[in-house]
Amino acid sequence: MKLLFERSRAGRGSDLLPACDVPVVTYDQGLLRAEAPRLPEMAEVDLSRHYTELAKQTHGVNDGFYPLGSCTMKYNPRVNEEAAAQPGFTQLHPLQPVETVQGALEVIYTAEKMLCEITGMDGMTFQPAAGAHGEYTGLLLIRKYHQSRGDTARTKIIVPDSAHGTNPASATMAGFKVVSVPSNEQGGVDLDALRKAVGPDTAGLMLTNPNTVGLFDPNILEITQIIHDAGGLCYYDGANLNAIMGHVRPGDMGFDCVHLNLHKTFSTPHGGGGPGSGPVGCKAMLAQFLPSPHVEEKDGKFVFAAPEHTMGQVRSFYGNFLVVVKALAYLITLGKEGIPEASAGAVLNANYLMKQLAGAYDMSYDTQCMHEFVMTLQGLAHDTGVTAMDVAKRLLDFGMHPPTMYFPLIVHEALMVEPTETESMETLDEAARVFLDILAEAKTDAESLHHAPHDCPIGRPDEVTAARSPILRYDFGA
Ligand SMILES: *Cc1c(COP(=O)(O)O)cnc(C)c1O
Repeated sequence: MKLLFERSRAGRGSDLLPACDVPVVTYDQGLLRAEAPRLPEMAEVDLSRHYTELAKQTHGVNDGFYPLGSCTMKYNPRVNEEAAAQPGFTQLHPLQPVETVQGALEVIYTAEKMLCEITGMDGMTFQPAAGAHGEYTGLLLIRKYHQSRGDTARTKIIVPDSAHGTNPASATMAGFKVVSVPSNEQGGVDLDALRKAVGPDTAGLMLTNPNTVGLFDPNILEITQIIHDAGGLCYYDGANLNAIMGHVRPGDMGFDCVHLNLHKTFSTPHGGGGPGSGPVGCKAMLAQFLPSPHVEEKDGKFVFAAPEHTMGQVRSFYGNFLVVVKALAYLITLGKEGIPEASAGAVLNANYLMKQLAGAYDMSYDTQCMHEFVMTLQGLAHDTGVTAMDVAKRLLDFGMHPPTMYFPLIVHEALMVEPTETESMETLDEAARVFLDILAEAKTDAESLHHAPHDCPIGRPDEVTAARSPILRYDFGA
């Protein structure tokens, strides 16, 4: 399709500004640009059609099934968007006096109380802008804790190989050395390897649970015990809280801090690059190190306060506030009954779809899953030459977004499927039928699958070049 610049015609425009009726102010010549900016010039209707055409070429949760694993691409109720769109929230300035924004502070305060209840934590910050940012902040809490006790030898963070990829990256960014421990045959942490890995240099452990193969580690209490016995702290990657909320709490399983992804579990749509929110909750002994400012209640009023030994700010102001509004609206509408029902639905849907596919596709672990399951197409690729990539591409022809491909890295030819709780049985049945049809096709017409998708605007772009050398500027041709 044509770019905006290619559609542009000199002199066209959409501006409807009246003639200037106030004195014209002239700037210093040095501040003015020498040439007008090269912006596309087009009528409003053409602009509108351009973006509509672009929108038609993408796939969102409103277009169809979106089982992208480890992402929780669930449908988010519109009422939460409406709550966040109230002018009383959108028209605030972050530097307004606190007496004039008591309602906004109450939102943060109440969301903290509810999410602490759900996670079993004592304090929380909403500053981190995403999950990985939350991990980084949580690791700084762990570092501050050891430093405050004069224990400077603890430089290592243990990360199981079934962790989300951001875990080792965040630990490295926070200045720790990463020690990887392998998984056992059931997909959980290998306890013997963990016992060997801990020592006086262990600062802590980061556990993704359910892990990236969609499994709840049955030895979780033993894992946190091993770390605590060695003097380390336990960090819970709670981005997958969609699988457990309302049923078990990280704080009751021995974890000292946790991050959540409000843009996965708590009703902010994502996938387009933001805004997100990765609040970090912690136990009381870590709360003194939380970022500042932190909302507290004092004499019946909400105020900003600095925790006693705060790490300072990890982001400007108070985080992505409107994401917190949506999360609170979601929490209140679901309530104590709805929250566990949502996670139970997520787990049920994943198991329902997995069972329908299990006879035909190889599952990487032959057990019940949590909110997502991982298939391995290694056998299929060996027998027919059809890869996980081919199957994923073919799904597009049926109006389905592909699952996550080639991740987790510990599974070969992986497809990671996360249906989420918001899909109906009919949608899951239809998805199963499509998966099975594609499998039949692989056995009869593998060649055609190598060229899928057949009905999309773009089929198989050169992904490496697209990622490494993206063309982000229009070339005006000199
Ligand atoms: C998505 C995810 C993250 C990272 O969250 P971002 O908001 O993308 O930074 C971390 N851990 C797990 C388990 C996740 O699924």
